[in-house]
Amino acid sequence: MTSTDATTFEVRPSSHPRSLAERTAALADLKFGVVFTDHMARATWTDDEGWHDRRIEAYAPLSLDPAAAVLHYAQEIFEGLKAYRHADGSIWAFRPDRNAQRLARSAERLALPVLSEADFHASIQALVATDAEWVPSVPGSSLYLRPFMFASEAFLGVRPARRVDYLVIASPVGPYFTNGFQPLSIWVDAEYNRAGPGGTGAAKCGGNYAASLLPQAQAYKEGCDQVCFLDAATGTYLEELGGMNVFLVMKDGSVRTPALGTILEGVTRDSILQLCREGGRPVEESRIALTELLEGIRAGEVTEVFACGTAAVITPIGRLKGTDFDVTIGDGQAGPVTTELYETITDIQYGRREDAHGWMSRLV
Ligand SMILES: *Cc1c(COP(=O)(O)O)cnc(C)c1O
Repeated sequence: MTSTDATTFEVRPSSHPRSLAERTAALADLKFGVVFTDHMARATWTDDEGWHDRRIEAYAPLSLDPAAAVLHYAQEIFEGLKAYRHADGSIWAFRPDRNAQRLARSAERLALPVLSEADFHASIQALVATDAEWVPSVPGSSLYLRPFMFASEAFLGVRPARRVDYLVIASPVGPYFTNGFQPLSIWVDAEYNRAGPGGTGAAKCGGNYAASLLPQAQAYKEGCDQVCFLDAATGTYLEELGGMNVFLVMKDGSVRTPALGTILEGVTRDSILQLCREGGRPVEESRIALTELLEGIRAGEVTEVFACGTAAVITPIGRLKGTDFDVTIGDGQAGPVTTELYETITDIQYGRREDAHGWMSRLV
């Protein structure tokens, strides 16, 4: 073994894994991102050594110098993907190469070191293999994987850190929709922006989420579930939600979604575009003006609106509210195109439908 040695995550088993009874109890009551498995993947980067010390070790609190740059200047990026258990017990990831490539692009934007696709894959594979018993088998459940990277150098000067940590933690999660396929109501924010031209909107970084929390709180105050942002330059065009991309379905069957630029390039978004194109459904990635969207909904030209991302896969949107409008889309329920896309993608993820694209990557 020569080149593969560089991407081996050495397993150092936890001295205190939870008992079968404790794990069973934890897996019986799944909420998003509350319970974590017994281990985590970890690697360290320094400017003189590069990436080293790749290991799987006991899940534990980190010891961080109070001057660690991430705590002051938010030099941090992350990813989100899931491991799915198939009926035969095997465990698979959905398009993990896309997450690896996006992590590399986010790293470049945040002046963090790039982690190779091989290291990314090795880290999630080794962690999931070590904690395979934590991958739930209840329908609709999965093991959510959270790779992240941050500046751990203790230094208050402003420059890219010379010491960086990469970790992957894992959390068993239940079905996103516990009461059926529930449509969301969306607050369209005209006051705050998530990202601007030349900013970090296309990178998956914690800072973007920090900026979305106040508008998200505003959405709750307005009686809505989530916030949708408009473009920062003109306040005219639809961008995305705090953590999900958006799509429109038109009366003629075509779909539209905001073009890339200041939005995050979702793996789910890309998969939907590909499935639609292959199914003969015209797709358009373009600028979508809010006024045009509202007129389209009122005129019945826009028949469905949905959001998409790894956590929920696809979420119907039933209502849009803003300072001077409040509209219901169709009958406010999940439409047929939304439902069909949701079923197609989840069937591929859970191995119930042929994976014609080679999107699934076996982990265990
Ligand atoms: C992660 C994320 C998405 C969804 O991306 P997926 O790869 O589909 O999970 C969309 N928007 C933002 C801002 C995100 O952070």
